[in-house]
Amino acid sequence: MRDTRNFRMPNGAELVGRPGKSVRIQVSVPSDGDGFFGRQCPDCSLIFRMDMQQYKALPDDLTLWCVYCGYHAEHSNFLTQQQRKRLIQAAGNYGMQKISRRLGKALLREQGVFTRNWVDTVENVVGVVEALASSLFHAAVPDAGTLVRGKGAIFQRLDPMADLLVDAGFPDLRPVLGQERWQRLLTTWAARHVFTHNDGIVDDKYLAKVPNSSVRAGQRLVLTEGVCRQAIEDTKALCEALVDALG
Ligand SMILES: [Zn+2]
Repeated sequence: MRDTRNFRMPNGAELVGRPGKSVRIQVSVPSDGDGFFGRQCPDCSLIFRMDMQQYKALPDDLTLWCVYCGYHAEHSNFLTQQQRKRLIQAAGNYGMQKISRRLGKALLREQGVFTRNWVDTVENVVGVVEALASSLFHAAVPDAGTLVRGKGAIFQRLDPMADLLVDAGFPDLRPVLGQERWQRLLTTWAARHVFTHNDGIVDDKYLAKVPNSSVRAGQRLVLTEGVCRQAIEDTKALCEALVDALG
């Protein structure tokens, strides 16, 4: 958590910690002049108001009941559209800063043994995208938990992640980014898999994702500076597309 305090966050948003791989961002909900704030039912969409002081005193895992239709769920599902927007903005904002920083560091270190840095870079970009996509998705979708249940590390895999967004009613990332860029991203993600799980040796799994590759199974994957820079550009575009799609 060492650089938590160095992130610029929008008004009312606070980075409260990064336990493990996930990021926890707390966004305050301003109350109106009477000390009330809005809650929106994720089922019937009607908005009701609650007393801020009373609400604060309640436990974190509180179940809320919709006063109109009786729907009940964990209280964080009752964000109004406006509150949801603020949360997504905060998460997107954080993600973009995080990625710029990590990628900046990777580029600064490129004088060293480049392949090692490249490996760090791909591991970083996959991790950053995973954290960003997961937090944006959970902020944007009231029943996100149900949708991702049983799907493993879905935010680490590009096509399943894109499909998940489409299924939840969001734009398809693939046409937004274009076929060429999407294929380069798939290649980067496949390369990360090779380095993380196969000591950098190309396997059939990699070749299935990168059908036009000139390397053969059993060969060591070699990465160049040009490829690395392109991967960084592509990843930035992917993060922007995620923020646009879910924001
Ligand atoms: Zn309701």
